[in-house]
Amino acid sequence: FFSEVTEAQPIEVFYMNKLYLDETDSRKVNLTIGAYRTEEGKPWVLPVVHEAEKRLAADDTLNHEYLPVLGFEPFCNAARDLVLGADSLAIQEGRAFGVQCLSGTGSLRAGAEFLSRLLGLKTAYVSDPTWGNHNLIFKNSGFEAVNKYHYWDSTKRQINIDGLIADLEAAPEKSVIILHGCAHNPTGMDPTREQWHKIAELIKKKNHFTFFDIAYQGFASGDPDADAWAIRYFVEQGLEMVVAQSFAKNFGLYNERVGNLTIVVKDPKVIPAIKSQMSLVIRANWSNPPAHGAKIVHMVLTNPDFRKQWFDAIQTMSSRIREMRAAIRKHLEDLGTPGKWDHITQQIGMFSYTGLTANQVEHLVKEHKVFLLKDGRINLCGLNTKNVEYVAKAFDETVRN
Ligand code: PMP
Repeated sequence: FFSEVTEAQPIEVFYMNKLYLDETDSRKVNLTIGAYRTEEGKPWVLPVVHEAEKRLAADDTLNHEYLPVLGFEPFCNAARDLVLGADSLAIQEGRAFGVQCLSGTGSLRAGAEFLSRLLGLKTAYVSDPTWGNHNLIFKNSGFEAVNKYHYWDSTKRQINIDGLIADLEAAPEKSVIILHGCAHNPTGMDPTREQWHKIAELIKKKNHFTFFDIAYQGFASGDPDADAWAIRYFVEQGLEMVVAQSFAKNFGLYNERVGNLTIVVKDPKVIPAIKSQMSLVIRANWSNPPAHGAKIVHMVLTNPDFRKQWFDAIQTMSSRIREMRAAIRKHLEDLGTPGKWDHITQQIGMFSYTGLTANQVEHLVKEHKVFLLKDGRINLCGLNTKNVEYVAKAFDETVRN
């Protein structure tokens, strides 16, 4: 049975992370995987998450019974409120609800499968470039075509809005358009408000379907509300949509797989049918989601004191990242490294799309043990005050090489 199976390409980000872990050279620096690290280079359990975990552990009314197929509803409501804003008209009118899924990936998968199977939507568009898993998820969910729309102008190091608009205009009606809600991965560059207006207008005009992916709410500006601006604007425009939310990064709950798919419809009458069909999609995937992380997120979002502590933790993470952006740019400019480096501080979120080429990346890994992705994407969280100068010097030597 198995003799014809050929080996697949390794998943780059995990492969590079493993190379880093296996590396014995003490100079090594890990700028690969999209996870937060402290100044000491350690993973961070948010203090408020730790507090919530202690409360859960002390609660002897809790047990390990299955959750409902669509998840822990109070969590779904809190997650939906976080992204749409508790005062959203769509919520007040009963037109928006959440379905608990396995982190951002599971939310994308459940949403994509629903659109493909139940709505018969078969053509999707992702940004060029995008997070690599989008392609795989939409293909495996039954989409016949996963096309690209222009996003990044690598010469100008900014969004190619004219190319983007032209591609959405040329796309067949009722295409599914996947948009990063904030902190675009990998470019770190989001559309301006004016550009979002144009995108929404075109989606409406061409009767496309909006699929938002928001995996970094809070990481773009440090304010989770401001980071949801584009999604809220689309809702105000009366667009129907699904929104895949991940709580991996903004709660540091990577391996707990906490996610929510928020669904916004025009007419609340359709919701019972959607829920019943979505139950079957999920039943055949993971049947019902895990409870632990969802209970933590629910407790934190609904307790005003905890919520404030969470906002503070987001500030801590996003400001450390901003400091590292400024630090590496300054070192590169002080070294007089050829090229311009202002894009590093213009970009937002966890990542910077450095503009380094695949050859330069290879050189950095081989000669300096600085690990990053071959498209030049770095996770700023891998930098700290102790290694940033080393990394800048490594970039400098590489660029001049
Ligand atoms: N979307 C984007 C753009 C991402 O970068 C990520 C995480 N790398 C995800 C979704 C989902 O991640 P997870 O399944 O871990 O929540």
